[in-house]
Amino acid sequence: MTTANPVFIPGPTNIPEVLRKAYDMPTLDHRSPAFAEILHPVLAGVKRVLKTEAGEVIVFPATGTGGWEASIANTLSKGDRVLAGRNGMFSHRWIDLCERFGLDVEVIEHRWGEGLDAARYEAALRADTGHAIKAVLATHNETATGVVSDIAAIRKALDAAGHPALLMVDGVSSIGSMDFRMDEWGVDLAVTGSQKGFMLPPGLAIVGVSPKARKAMEGADLPRAFYDFRDMMGAYANSGYPYTPAVGLMNGLRVACDMLLAEGLDAVFARHARIAGGVRAAVEAWGLKLCAETRAVQSDTVSAVRMPDGIDANAFVARAAQTYGVAFGTGLGEVAGKVFRIGHLGMLTDVQALAGLSAAEMVMSDLGVNFAPGSGVAAAQAHYRATVEGAALGLAAE
Ligand SMILES: *Cc1c(COP(=O)(O)O)cnc(C)c1O
Repeated sequence: MTTANPVFIPGPTNIPEVLRKAYDMPTLDHRSPAFAEILHPVLAGVKRVLKTEAGEVIVFPATGTGGWEASIANTLSKGDRVLAGRNGMFSHRWIDLCERFGLDVEVIEHRWGEGLDAARYEAALRADTGHAIKAVLATHNETATGVVSDIAAIRKALDAAGHPALLMVDGVSSIGSMDFRMDEWGVDLAVTGSQKGFMLPPGLAIVGVSPKARKAMEGADLPRAFYDFRDMMGAYANSGYPYTPAVGLMNGLRVACDMLLAEGLDAVFARHARIAGGVRAAVEAWGLKLCAETRAVQSDTVSAVRMPDGIDANAFVARAAQTYGVAFGTGLGEVAGKVFRIGHLGMLTDVQALAGLSAAEMVMSDLGVNFAPGSGVAAAQAHYRATVEGAALGLAAE
C-alpha cells in the first residue's frame, strides 16, 4: 500500500516531518549527561500537556496497554476490587487486563455508543459502604465507538459518594487532542501513548501519577518488575533509566510537547474540534449515523460511522486500502463489520480531511451505498470555509 496518503486511522497517526527528524538520531549514550537534556524537558512537557503540577510523569518503552498494566500493577493488590465502565473495545481490554491480574472487576455495562454514566458510577460507589473498591477505571475517549466521556463527572461521582478509590483514566486517544485536566479532575493515573495525539510512532507508554497514587504504591502487592514505578522514579532522580530507554522516541516526545505547547493547547483542541466538525457534517450529509449516540458524546478525535444494513464495513475498509491506498479503521468487537472509523487526530489539515472524505465517498459508490456522491465533501467544505477565519492552522504550517 502506498504511504503517500495520510492515514485516517485513530492511531498510529500521521507523523510531522519535524518529529520524524527528531526521533531519527545517532546513538546517544543514555547514561551520559546528554540524555538528561532529553529526559527532563519530556517530563516537564508532558506534565503541561496533562495539566498537572502535583503529578509525576513516567515514560516506559511500551504502548498504551503497558500504561494500563503499569497503573494497576503499581497501585493495587491481588483480589482488589475495581469498578470499570465498559462501552467499547478499549474499555473492555483494560477490564480483561485487570482480570488477568486477579483483580475483582465490577463492570458497569453500557451500550456501545453511550458515554460512561457518572450516575451509575456514583450508585455503585455509594453501595460500596465498606470501600472494597480500590480503583475506578474510566476510558476518556472510547476509540472503538468514537465516544468521549465526562471525566469531571466521574470525579464528582467519587466525591459525592465520599469514596476514596483511585481514579484511573485511559486518555490514550484524547490526551494532546482534547482537553484533559489531570489535577482539576483529580485523576490519579493518566495513561497515554506516543502514537496518537503526540503524533509519534508507537513505542512509548506515558503515565501521569498523582501523589495519592504514589502513596497507594507503597502497600500494593501485585507483581511488577519492568513497570515498577519505584525503579523509574529512583532512576529519574539520577537523570536515567533502570534499563535502556527509547532514546529517539523520547527526543521525539520532547519536540512533540514543544509543538503542542507552542501552538497552545486550546488552539490544538479547537483545531481538532473543527476538523471533527467537518467529518460529522459529511456523515450527516451522507445520511449515515455515527455510533456515538448523542452530540455530547461525539469524539473530536475519531468518528465511528455506521454502515447501512447489508453493507459490510470491513469490505469498506479493505476496498479503501486496496483500491485507493487509504487507511480507515475497522470496527472492533461488538461493532465489527458494522462501523468503519475515521481517525482525525494528530497532524491533519482541512485539506487532508477533505481528501479522506472524498476517498470514503469513492468507496461507498463502489460498494453501492445509497447516498449523494459529493454531498459529504461539500458539507465538510462548507464547515471548514465557515470556520477557518482566524483559526490557528498551527501544524498545517509545519
Ligand atoms: C490506542 C488505544 C489504547 C492502547 O493501545 P496500544 O496499542 O497498546 O498503544 C488504549 N486505549 C485507547 C482508548 C486507545 O485508543
